[in-house]
Amino acid sequence: MAEKKTKSQELKDKLFYKQQHSTYVLTAAEQKKADKYCEDYKTFLDNGKTEREAAAETVQRAEAAGFELFDKSKKYKAGDKIYYLNRKKAVILAVIGKQPIANGVNITAAHIDSPRLDLKQNPLYEAEELGYFKTHYYGGIKKYQWPALPLSLHGVIVRADGTEITVNIGEDDKDPCFVVTDLLPHLADEQYKRPVGKLITGEELNILIGSRPFKDDECSDAVKLNLMNILFEKYKIVEKDFLSAELECVPALKARDIGFDRSLIGAYGQDDRVCAYTAFTALLDMKGVPARTAVCVLTDKEETGSDGNTGLRSAYLKYFISDLAECFGCSGRDVMSASRCLSADVNAGFDPTFPDVLEKRNCAYMNKGIVVTKFTGARGKSGTSDANAEFVGYVHSLFGKNGIVWQTGELGKVDLGGGGTVAAYIANLNIDTIDVGVPVLSMHAPFEVTAKNDVYMAYKAFSAFYKAE
Ligand code: MN
Ligand code: MN
Repeated sequence: MAEKKTKSQELKDKLFYKQQHSTYVLTAAEQKKADKYCEDYKTFLDNGKTEREAAAETVQRAEAAGFELFDKSKKYKAGDKIYYLNRKKAVILAVIGKQPIANGVNITAAHIDSPRLDLKQNPLYEAEELGYFKTHYYGGIKKYQWPALPLSLHGVIVRADGTEITVNIGEDDKDPCFVVTDLLPHLADEQYKRPVGKLITGEELNILIGSRPFKDDECSDAVKLNLMNILFEKYKIVEKDFLSAELECVPALKARDIGFDRSLIGAYGQDDRVCAYTAFTALLDMKGVPARTAVCVLTDKEETGSDGNTGLRSAYLKYFISDLAECFGCSGRDVMSASRCLSADVNAGFDPTFPDVLEKRNCAYMNKGIVVTKFTGARGKSGTSDANAEFVGYVHSLFGKNGIVWQTGELGKVDLGGGGTVAAYIANLNIDTIDVGVPVLSMHAPFEVTAKNDVYMAYKAFSAFYKAE
């Protein structure tokens, strides 16, 4: 027989906020679904290691699910599925809802770019008969994490005649890969005296790409010549073509299960492809026609501050919504002003090895559900859109009604750092916006960690949001 609760216990149960424990166990059937869902998530991660590849993979899957390229001269009706591709690097997907579009649309917005090493425009050189690429890192990386790690090369080269070639080398086990070398510990005494941010400097992130000289005759730069010759044979490019290339080096690692219990996923680029994947698959899998038009934005350039025409400081989302509004005889500003957005981005999960950087009452934990972050920014909330209580209340109620396990989050203790997402740029369009995403360990590292149940919960949360009236 259960012990009778004391009056104070009864009152505590009624009044206190109990943070979730990892024992928000899914039913056996749901756990099976969650694990299966994450298998395809890993495939998506492996197939889309850059914004271009993730955009292409998304479009391919969207087309297979019946989405058609948006044409603003066409008439659309409830249930129609459309997509827009911005310069092969950002995608917007939408399913037209039953309600008049003037009621507003439900938007999720995630980013598909991740920190990496970009090649400089004149990257190729030879030093002491070793061949290298010069790089300029993209996004916020801890530079010391990138040497001594197998790297692959992805991107496009546009030749002088305008023809374009796609590069993807180092992912297949049979491909060669590349590496940034590090100093041996035996000779690192001076290196260890550097401030840790300069343990490896940006100009030391040089990628080793070969060492064999061109054989025909003695000449200077024979290794570089041999490498250029290989690149010419393979891609029909000359050195000058690098000037108009976008080549990105990323970890040549596959997404893997982590732990004896396989409860976690380790992979490169989960910030923010974990939210991109969950947001767009929730839209693709949606049964029936949503009440409001459902929109999923997968953007580029978040990691460098969202500037540029494929980032969300660009007008492309605004133009898309305006064009869509006009298809229904509405003005874009009316639609945007009535719209809601879940800015789908990751937040830091609590790491017991580094407990001092997060404030335990307000940070996110692994396996405790998706994290709703009311504000981001730094130094007195600078740079945040800070969702209003009414919209947080809307999300609180929506998730409650749909059995979504969620927690609140904050990116670090006050004045200890901070960061931002695309939320502010969407909120600036007069759209109610809040950050919702998956907690991550080792964020921005070459191999980031998420929990499968949180990934699945994000999928369920976005599914519920698209259907919301
Ligand atoms: Mn992010
Ligand atoms: Mn990030």
